[in-house]
Amino acid sequence: MTNRREFIVNLSLGGTALMAGSAVMAQGAMVAEADAQAKALGYAADTTKVDAKKFPKHEATQNCTNCALYQGKAGAASGGCPLFAGKQVSAKGWCSAYAKKA
Ligand code: SF4
Repeated sequence: MTNRREFIVNLSLGGTALMAGSAVMAQGAMVAEADAQAKALGYAADTTKVDAKKFPKHEATQNCTNCALYQGKAGAASGGCPLFAGKQVSAKGWCSAYAKKA
């Protein structure tokens, strides 16, 4: 039989899980490299995997975290980008629209 205290603990844990779930929903799913927009922009989830032949101006130090368009928080693994509305780009990702953060 669940006592009152256990019930309250379970309730608060359930609420935390729900809140975490809705935070993920609000941030959106990760952009897939296979998405049409990602392909059009040459997006790679890992900047070290960018095709140097296709994008000769790409530099290894460039990634979403130091791009002017990146909206993720410092230290986060992913964040928003206006070019991929409603989705998340990888912090260590890159695309051909990269613009160095001032
Ligand atoms: S525009 Fe910048 S933040 Fe957005 S995907 Fe391209 S490199 Fe990353």
